[in-house]
Amino acid sequence: MKVVVLLGAPGAGKGTQAPLLADRLRIPVVATGDLFRAAVRDQTPLGTQAKGYMDAGQLVPDEITIALLLDRLSQPDAARGVILDGFPRTRVQAQALDSALAERDASVAVAVLVEVPAEELVRRLSGRWICRAAGHPYHEVSSPPRVAGRCDIDGSELYQRPDDQPETIRARMAQQLGALDEVIAHYREADLLRAVDGLQPVDTVAAAVATVVDAAGIDR
Ligand SMILES: [Zn+2]
Repeated sequence: MKVVVLLGAPGAGKGTQAPLLADRLRIPVVATGDLFRAAVRDQTPLGTQAKGYMDAGQLVPDEITIALLLDRLSQPDAARGVILDGFPRTRVQAQALDSALAERDASVAVAVLVEVPAEELVRRLSGRWICRAAGHPYHEVSSPPRVAGRCDIDGSELYQRPDDQPETIRARMAQQLGALDEVIAHYREADLLRAVDGLQPVDTVAAAVATVVDAAGIDR
């Protein structure tokens, strides 16, 4: 079984790359958020446990997440392998994943990092503005208004919600990047980390991801 771990900060474009790589390798993307939702919906024993933590506003413990993940890996469509998106998020989770896979004679084959400098991530994530009149959305880079600071549709003033302001994004990102750095270090130490430049166009990034995955010996 080929387990590919896809790593990247929020805004790095990891979510765009995951399905492209899945198409290429013909293996599914497994995102832990989806696993939680499915288990809760189907009211499986693990789902019921996970829901208890989520309802209490707590993080789902790693053992439950890993158990859900192993369940998913045992399904027929995952027989050749999976692409993990959004897991592991910490070094402890990465170590737990290694142990759980080792018990099944499997291992992580490669960890692909879609790398984008922090300030670019802040720029991508913080460029969102909305209008006061109706909340029409704009983005400084991808969909700017015709007249700066004014809504194209109703002419009202554009503003940034606190959540979309650069200082808020920077603070949130510092936390997330701290955990991501640990995971990156874990795979670097295992010589499984391969970084691709996430600043390039989507197709170029996809080609770079394909190259490192092929080099890791993951055949299609
Ligand atoms: Zn408007």
